[in-house]
Amino acid sequence: FLASLSHEIRTPMNGVIGMTTLLLDSKLTRAQREWVEVIRSSGDGLLTIINDILDFSKIEAGKLELDLHPFNPQTCIEDTLELVAPEAFEKGVQLTYQLETPLPPEIVSDITRVRQILFNLLSNAIKFTNAGDVTLHAGAIATGPNLVELQFSVADTGIGIPQDRQDRLFQSFSQVDASTTRKYGGSGLGLAISRRLVELLGGRIWVESEPGRGSRFSFTIVTSTPTSP
Ligand code: ADP
Repeated sequence: FLASLSHEIRTPMNGVIGMTTLLLDSKLTRAQREWVEVIRSSGDGLLTIINDILDFSKIEAGKLELDLHPFNPQTCIEDTLELVAPEAFEKGVQLTYQLETPLPPEIVSDITRVRQILFNLLSNAIKFTNAGDVTLHAGAIATGPNLVELQFSVADTGIGIPQDRQDRLFQSFSQVDASTTRKYGGSGLGLAISRRLVELLGGRIWVESEPGRGSRFSFTIVTSTPTSP
C-alpha cells in the first residue's frame, strides 16, 4: 500500500521544502527567517524518514527492482563522498578515501543503490563521530570470468557500538538506545535498508566496533564487468 502511494507522499513534501528555499531568498525579518529555517530543517528531516519508510516498504513488498547498468565505481564513490563532505567539514571530521586495490573501470550494478548504501554508512559514521576521521576503503577481487566482488568499508573514530547491540543493528527500527534517537534523530531504518540492498546486490554487510574507539561497517557486492564488444 505504502509502496504504491510513494509518489503522492513525496510530491507535496518536495513542494513544502521547495517553497522554503524561495522564502529564504526573500526579504524576511530575523524572526521570520528563523521560523522558515525551522520549517526547512523539519521538512528535510521528515522527508528523510518518509523516504526510508517508503524504501523499506517497497523492499518488503518485493517491489524494488534493480536498475543494472555499467558504471565507473570510482566515480560513484567520489560522487558520494562529495555529497557528505560538507557535513564532515562542518563537524571538523576528516574524510578520507583509500583504494586497497585498483577498481575495474566499469562494473554492472545498480549505481543508485550502491550510492545509497555508501551514503548511509558515511552519514552514520560522520553523525556518530565527534572528533577524528572517517575513512572509506574500497577494493575489488575477481571471483570468476567477468565477475568481480567489490568490498567497501567505512571506518570511523566515533562513539562505537557495544558488542551486545551489534547484531540487532541491521534489523528495522533498531537504534542502540533511546538517547541516541533524542540526540541524533534518525529512523533506525537506514541499516535495515542497507542490508536488504546489499543482499539484493549479491553481497553481505557486517560491523566491527569498540565502544569509545570507533566502528567499521563493511559490505560486499558481486558485480559483472561488461564483456568486450
Ligand atoms: P538511524 O541512523 O536512522 O537511526 P540506522 O539504521 O542507520 O538508523 O542506524 C541504527 C543505529 O545504529 C543508530 O541509531 C546508531 O545507534 C547505530 N549506529 C549506526 N552507525 C553507527 C556508527 N558509525 N557509530 C556508532 N553507532 C552507529
